[in-house]
Amino acid sequence: GLQGKVALITGSTSGIGLATAHVLAEQGCHIVLHGLMDHDEGQTLAAEFRAQYQINTFFSNADLREANCIHEFIDNAVNALGSIDILVNNAGIQHTQDVAHFPIEKWNDIIAINLSAAFHTIQQVIPAMAEKGWGRIINIASVHGLVASANKVAYCAAKHGIVGLTKVVAIECAEQGITVNAICPGWVDTPLIGKQIDSIASDKSLSYDEAKYQLVTSKQPLPEMLAPRQIGEFVLFLCGGAARGITGSSLPMDGAWTAQ
Ligand code: NAD
Repeated sequence: GLQGKVALITGSTSGIGLATAHVLAEQGCHIVLHGLMDHDEGQTLAAEFRAQYQINTFFSNADLREANCIHEFIDNAVNALGSIDILVNNAGIQHTQDVAHFPIEKWNDIIAINLSAAFHTIQQVIPAMAEKGWGRIINIASVHGLVASANKVAYCAAKHGIVGLTKVVAIECAEQGITVNAICPGWVDTPLIGKQIDSIASDKSLSYDEAKYQLVTSKQPLPEMLAPRQIGEFVLFLCGGAARGITGSSLPMDGAWTAQ
């Protein structure tokens, strides 16, 4: 089992990352929690996990836009809990605008957080995984790593990028007991998509729930959002022995979005 393994989940103060942290903690993993949360709030969250699951935890609010911050974050996490066995690159942001007007700083932030941060974390955790002969790296990509939508130039570029990164690292690590995969979710019910729902609601004078339904069904045949926990359960499956042969894959979990 995964009892006693150390799992680091970036962006685990909210949404998919938080749900994944719960799923792995239930298995007895020690958890590195991370996200843009006030230090005291983060310590409270970490204490709640310790009490609920009888595991060790570490919290960091390192800004993933800075390679130096990532480096220091992982060093501190490893000093606190031991080397990382399971790495989930999950933190991400969104900004929607047409390419001609897309703000340069949003482009830079999205590429840094949604793509480059995974390069930095992977580079740092791989030597210890290789030494142990076991590791699991799961990148939370998106359907937008496989297909595109208008107004998401930076997000689609970053998510397509992480699909490529996943393949390369999987090939390089195949003989070392490390599997490397990406999960490509469709719509998931988290705070990330709130702004997109708000703008449909105001443009079309709809209620929040009506706007949410329109957003989901405009591209995804399954007319409902996934629950964050469903992504966490998929991460858990990829950590298990039955998934030993799955590596280098970018796996849709998208309500038939990319089946079309
Ligand atoms: P969320 O907004 O609920 O959580 C995002 C997390 O990333 C938070 O913990 C936040 O603090 C962290 N984060 C953001 N900027 C950061 C920064 N500069 N430095 C450090 N941490 C930062 O979002 P979510 O929906 O749970 O998204 C998680 C991942 O899933 C993202 O990569 C997202 O692209 C992907 N995804 C989401 C959906 C969806 O519909 N919600 C669909 C497909 C893929």
